[in-house]
Amino acid sequence: MHNNRHPHTPGKKPVTIFGPDFPFAFDQWIEHPAGLGSIPQASHGAEVAIVGAGIAGLVAAYELMKLGLKPVVYEAAKMGGRLRSEPFEGAEGIIAELGGMRFPASSTAFYHYVDKLGLQTKPFPNPLTAASGSTVVDLEGTSHYAEKLDDLPEIFREVAQAWADALEDGARFSEIQDAIRERDTVKLKALWDELVPLWDDRTFYDFVASSKAFSRLSFQHREIFGQVGFGTGGWDSDFPNSMLEIFRVVMTNCDDHQHLIVGGVEQVPRGIWNHAPERCAHWPAGTSLATLHNGAPRPGVKKIARAANGHLAVTDYWGDTREYAAVLTTCQSWLLTTQIECEEALFSQKMWMALDRTRYMQSSKTFVMVDRPFWKDKDPQTGRDVMSMTLTDRLTRGTYLFDNGDDKPGVICLSYSWMSDAMKMLPHPVEKRVQLALDALKKVYPKVDIASHIIGNPITVSWEADPHFLGAFKGALPGHYRYNQRMYAHFMQDEMPAEQRGIFIAGDDVSWTPAWVEGAVQTSLNAVWGIMKHFGGATHPENPGPGDCFAELGPIALPD
Ligand SMILES: Cc1cc2nc3c(=O)[nH]c(=O)nc-3n(C[C@H](O)[C@H](O)[C@H](O)COP(=O)(O)OP(=O)(O)OC[C@H]3O[C@@H](n4cnc5c(N)ncnc54)[C@H](O)[C@@H]3O)c2cc1C
Repeated sequence: MHNNRHPHTPGKKPVTIFGPDFPFAFDQWIEHPAGLGSIPQASHGAEVAIVGAGIAGLVAAYELMKLGLKPVVYEAAKMGGRLRSEPFEGAEGIIAELGGMRFPASSTAFYHYVDKLGLQTKPFPNPLTAASGSTVVDLEGTSHYAEKLDDLPEIFREVAQAWADALEDGARFSEIQDAIRERDTVKLKALWDELVPLWDDRTFYDFVASSKAFSRLSFQHREIFGQVGFGTGGWDSDFPNSMLEIFRVVMTNCDDHQHLIVGGVEQVPRGIWNHAPERCAHWPAGTSLATLHNGAPRPGVKKIARAANGHLAVTDYWGDTREYAAVLTTCQSWLLTTQIECEEALFSQKMWMALDRTRYMQSSKTFVMVDRPFWKDKDPQTGRDVMSMTLTDRLTRGTYLFDNGDDKPGVICLSYSWMSDAMKMLPHPVEKRVQLALDALKKVYPKVDIASHIIGNPITVSWEADPHFLGAFKGALPGHYRYNQRMYAHFMQDEMPAEQRGIFIAGDDVSWTPAWVEGAVQTSLNAVWGIMKHFGGATHPENPGPGDCFAELGPIALPD
């Protein structure tokens, strides 16, 4: 871990997104000097279709190019997908992060690419962190100003303690984290595989409400937990999710030590597109995805079918059909039924069940650009910041402040919300969203005239309103483990009937940690292994890949 993002805990190795379902060291695999493997020379230059130029599609395309294949990337909307940094009109380098915006230090495979591209990161201004300076928690009409947890009333510490106790008591949290730190796969699998059947059927809310730690406290403690949660803010929108999903987030420190990418995270997918690897099989020095494509990806995909010669025929929006020995789809899986006419026989009925049952969470964000980071001005009466990172039970839920320097415009994410709170915004145009948010914040900061600082035009997003996404990210419900397992294991194609082989899936939907980019990257690397195998290739004996370790370390299957 050659960066300074990980907190230094003396004597302890860092927590990374290592399992828990599939504890394979993706970071070591991609950093190994032997490389990911090789493909027989006869297949060098063979084309592979990649549907979607998000991070999963581009990581796979980049790694397959290094193996000597010719990725052909199709993109229906914007390159970068859900890593979208929207520039404010007229202001150089001032952006709104519409999708992923804060990346835990534990995302080691993702940061491999960030670091390769030489991008700068800095701590994300999360609640109660030094990076935000100050935080206001406004609940039930009362505001609390704090710089750290200890500044909040006692009840907030009781809630934090109850959550820690519930995890320890109900899931052997420290033991699992120690196994992750040590990369002790045997111990980690033993502990995790015991939790899977116990908690797949039960919700996050069930876990909280039935825990010893919370059940001896008041209902208000539970409410505060839902509103303020842990790490990055409120978590009540996840209460209906499978508890397994929440375990994964906290056990792998997804919600801790998060950094932002200075200048915008969209630079990562775009950087991968333009990057010429140090070493490529088959391709001359200087080759990049951009040069292989003459600069731009192909259009969106309209149809995927089996061709008469056994290859896969991919048809784009304008009717051009090309044939490939392998296709990787990385768009959200619902799009395989709503956007793309995908031949039914390409997946088993069990797989279709899993793909179509995927459940998405809604999410909306509304941003304004302001003349300067005025929130750091001090209130003459209290000596406090006039405005702070804000967590509230009001409409806005989470308000984040981005300081681009005193001489540059600042950015306020007026509201970042999920599920019901995002639905409240869905039908409204940007102006109304801004007004609703300003009205809510006026109740928290009666003395601050945010509107007088706004410059340029506001920016908003509702991912669920976009036909190329239909939702922000997966959020598995109770009973979804089997679906997740089927989708995740789909890159292991040896046992599949011939008519189902050659099409691969990757991305956020396939991941065990949806809503976290690391999961999308890891599934993309699984697909790289699967495609390498499909072309008769293999990994280097000193650097086994995910498929080589799958029988031993793969996620357990529950009986159908
Ligand atoms: C609101 C929000 C907040 C998030 N916050 C965080 C965070 O703070 N930290 C974090 O780590 N992660 C976060 N994430 C998750 C992260 O952004 C995703 O996991 C990751 O970007 C997913 O990448 P992907 O390649 O799997 O999918 P995508 O980025 O969705 O890429 C798929 C691509 O396929 C394209 N496509 C669709 N249909 C077609 C078609 N017919 N033909 C061709 N192309 C098509 C789409 O346009 C898209 O570009 C967040 C996501 C959202 C939406």
